[in-house]
Amino acid sequence: MTFMNILVTGGAGFIGSHTCVALLEAGHQVIVADNLSNSKAETIDKIKQITGYGVTFYRVDVTEEETVDNIFANHSIDGIIHFAGYKAVGESVEKPLAYYYNNIVSTMVLAKASKKYCVNRFVFSSSATVYGENEVPFVETLELLPTTNPYGETKAMSERILTDVSRANPELSVSLLRYFNPVGAHESGLIGEEPNGIPNNLMPYVTQVAKRKLDKLRVYGNDYPTVDGTGVRDYIHVMDLAEGHVAALNNLTEGVHIYNLGTGQGTSVLQLVVAFEQVNNIEVPYEIVDRRPGDIAECYADVSKAKRELNWTAKRGIAEMCRDAWRFENG
Ligand code: NAD
Ligand code: UDP
Repeated sequence: MTFMNILVTGGAGFIGSHTCVALLEAGHQVIVADNLSNSKAETIDKIKQITGYGVTFYRVDVTEEETVDNIFANHSIDGIIHFAGYKAVGESVEKPLAYYYNNIVSTMVLAKASKKYCVNRFVFSSSATVYGENEVPFVETLELLPTTNPYGETKAMSERILTDVSRANPELSVSLLRYFNPVGAHESGLIGEEPNGIPNNLMPYVTQVAKRKLDKLRVYGNDYPTVDGTGVRDYIHVMDLAEGHVAALNNLTEGVHIYNLGTGQGTSVLQLVVAFEQVNNIEVPYEIVDRRPGDIAECYADVSKAKRELNWTAKRGIAEMCRDAWRFENG
């Protein structure tokens, strides 16, 4: 295997920091570009604490063309993993311009720099949200349906931009990774998900209820056509997801490749709550409330393509996801 110099945008964030760990452990070198708009500088030190390897860190905004150009001019970069972006679905409805600007301009600036500096490997953080209300399991060949929010649209648009750039410049190989529901934390408990304010997502909400920071979980609807009426998602341990990026990078061949990164297993809200209670031996009080607007009943992946082409499958189950999320909350 060749060891590479990888630019990780958003590398101080939740998925980015775990991916830095996986890249360093696989022998690659890492340059992080992050403006810390949703993360902390300490995370960079924690990455070193976990792996024993340092990363080069730039506190920069990757929508700024000149700044990004300087990074490419100063390093011999072999590949880019582009995580940087805003990700809150609800907020994107309130602030569409901020979302389109940050998420689309960053992709364009990086694609432009990769062309100028002949960096031919580009891995992009996309989302299962681009499938919209297709039939489950979601398979990569499905035609994308409109999403219900600007955030989802920025992912679909970034996918199209990178696809067009690669078509026009076939030397640029692109991997579009559609994540399902990343949860959990590094098993050390040193890095994990730290949402600002009250969490929107299920797992951080559950950990804060268990910790008694919030009084009870509100389960959004129990009348969906699912196993127990509550929403079903494909939760994936963030370290499995991180390792999926290393596999995508190592197996990148000419053209544009789309991969679902999930487990292929659906878990309902109540199944996740019960698993969390059992694994961590702690109670999670909840009440059933109305459905959350925009939610779909079920979302899970067909993961056969990533297995076949990347030789990658998720190894960690719901129990590890609950254990590590709780360990991080208590860290
Ligand atoms: P995160 O907010 O923890 O990480 C994103 C990082 O990007 C943060 O550290 C933030 O400071 C940084 N950032 C944002 N805009 C920037 C800019 N203009 N310049 C430099 N840095 C900037 O989010 P995450 O959960 O780690 O998600 C990473 C990527 O994966 C995002 O693109 C997100 O949309 C995508 N994704 C996340 C999920 C999920 O559930 N977490 C699901 C699907 C896709
Ligand atoms: N959910 C819930 N209560 C919460 C947060 C989420 O019942 O406080 C449900 C939500 O309706 C969905 C599942 O948990 O069925 C996962 O939601 P999350 O926001 O984590 O991910 P997404 O909806 O983006 O898949």
